[in-house]
Amino acid sequence: MPPAEYENTEVKTDVNKNIFLTKGKVLKVKGYLEVYNKEEKDDLLPMMDKNEIVDVIEIKPLSKQTTPPKPYTEETLLRAMKNCGKNVSDDDTTVLSGYSIGTSATRAEVLKKIGQVGYVSKKGKSYFITDLGQNLVEIFPVKELFDVDYTGKLEKSLSDIQKGQFTRKEYLNNIMNFIWNSVNLIKYDRQKKISTESFTYNAKTKKFVSDKNPSSSKKSTKTDTKTSKSSENTALGKCPVCGGDVMESEKGFFCTNYNNCKYGIFKDDKYLQLFKKRPTKTIVKSLLKKGDAKVKSMTGKDGNKFDAILKYEKNDKGYYGWLIKKDS
Ligand SMILES: [Zn+2]
Repeated sequence: MPPAEYENTEVKTDVNKNIFLTKGKVLKVKGYLEVYNKEEKDDLLPMMDKNEIVDVIEIKPLSKQTTPPKPYTEETLLRAMKNCGKNVSDDDTTVLSGYSIGTSATRAEVLKKIGQVGYVSKKGKSYFITDLGQNLVEIFPVKELFDVDYTGKLEKSLSDIQKGQFTRKEYLNNIMNFIWNSVNLIKYDRQKKISTESFTYNAKTKKFVSDKNPSSSKKSTKTDTKTSKSSENTALGKCPVCGGDVMESEKGFFCTNYNNCKYGIFKDDKYLQLFKKRPTKTIVKSLLKKGDAKVKSMTGKDGNKFDAILKYEKNDKGYYGWLIKKDS
């Protein structure tokens, strides 16, 4: 008898704009079940079509509790690193299908390192994240470095170079840009800081050691997420990337969703400094509203003043930069 074939299916049902998720299987080919006559399985979904209208028969509120996922062990973590690209489709043009984090020669070393620097601790066989590790994940500004698929993206570019669809120069350019921007982000992202009072790096043991006893460390490592006093709590406009509010803070003008969309203008913007200018609230407001801003008396290389129209736009590498046009 041929085997029975199932298809794993997820059904999203919209009930008054509340989405209910159902996971289960659909029987595609009956196969040997034809004879056994036992197709009824608990997780078997009925055949249905996309956008089919269904009746709500009963609504029953249930009180349930989820259980946290099991902590990683060395074995499961290594496996996760090896298999993280497994579910990427072959058709994906941005992430390499089947990519891994590291190689079989380097993965164990990575695990050792995250323990040494104090991001995780081990209890028995299981790994647990430390306060330091949690802080890092929450406030480290370069989110790509936490995105496992970012590895898959780089791997994809490398594989495209191999196929002649991407050049080495482009690849290195992208990496350079990424590093340049990431370093700047880390340098200027001073609003949130890992408290240095609570952890000291011991160069000999290569470990971060909590200065206080562990029970009080939770409180003392709390990150400073307060917005600075100089910031005003009114939005200057809407972020052109994500539509979030752009607010003024001590360091600059940032989208409230900055960590994801990266839209922000630093007050000590190095490029405008070349023209002896600093971005102001008025400039930012105008940029957000009209897409450009008139700025008077910029100082040119020759020392002469000129008026200009500024734009702050994404270049083809996906990073924001200034466009300056003389306004005559
Ligand atoms: Zn935004």
